[in-house]
Amino acid sequence: MAKMIDCSKVDPSSGCKYVVRGETEEEVLRKAADHAKEHGIREVTPELMQKVRSAIRDEPAGQP
Ligand SMILES: [Zn+2]
Repeated sequence: MAKMIDCSKVDPSSGCKYVVRGETEEEVLRKAADHAKEHGIREVTPELMQKVRSAIRDEPAGQP
């Protein structure tokens, strides 16, 4: 099942509305790390990774 992460769930203070999408958890985590660079985050720390992981949710399926 496809995964998605709302940037605003990882860091509500950023006010960022970006949504990261991926086919797998691995892909969505990689894209999230990419997106983090746009916030000036060069290194994804274990603490940040944990926040990102907990923000992962399944993309609602069955879009017509
Ligand atoms: Zn963002």
